[in-house]
Amino acid sequence: MEKIVEEFIDLQAETEILVNPIPEFDTESTPMITPSEIIEFIYCPRYIYFLNCLGIPQHEELRFKVLKGRELHRKREKTNLHYIRKRPECIDKDVSVYLASKTIGVRGIVDEVLHLADGTLAPLDYKYTNFTEYTYRTHKVQSSIYAMLIKEVYKKTVIKGYICYVRNGNQLKEIIYTPKDFEEAIFVIKTIFDIILRGYYPDRTKYPNRCIDCTYRNICDKV
Ligand code: SF4
Repeated sequence: MEKIVEEFIDLQAETEILVNPIPEFDTESTPMITPSEIIEFIYCPRYIYFLNCLGIPQHEELRFKVLKGRELHRKREKTNLHYIRKRPECIDKDVSVYLASKTIGVRGIVDEVLHLADGTLAPLDYKYTNFTEYTYRTHKVQSSIYAMLIKEVYKKTVIKGYICYVRNGNQLKEIIYTPKDFEEAIFVIKTIFDIILRGYYPDRTKYPNRCIDCTYRNICDKV
């Protein structure tokens, strides 16, 4: 349980960085969701309802951990700026890229966009969690959404993406996207919009142990 919560907090921290981009359109007035909301939804869909529809924030101690994660993220940004990877074979990279799409309905910052030797592009995302053979759903959906955004913004092919697990000596995992990955990403985005814009009350998480330490456990009906 602790491990799951830790992963969730780290993921939130990585994706909650706000920058001051110069977008082609006003992303504040255009309804768009963020990677942070995607992670909250995957952890428990009701988080989106309580946060966005009822405006009830999470515990303050979580905020502290979020800030700590943010600090780690910034350190990495400064030290890793000019390093070009040999595996996968890269010819260039863009760092901390703000991506927004009215069509997809998402805005966010991808850690790196890799320009691969074969002419395709790939998102690379750093995670402050341990490497496991199993790919967490949060990681996969987030990576698939970045791939969709990169395709649209750069107008280039994206076949695969990478996740770098910092706590395991920067162990790299490759994801080769399938049509199912993109279908799932679109489903998640659509459902979040349904909750935020239409006030739809979603099903609870399938994992009851996530309720034990949840901020909303006293107001959530658990059915
Ligand atoms: S109590 Fe459980 S079902 Fe309700 S919001 Fe929290 S994690 Fe989700």
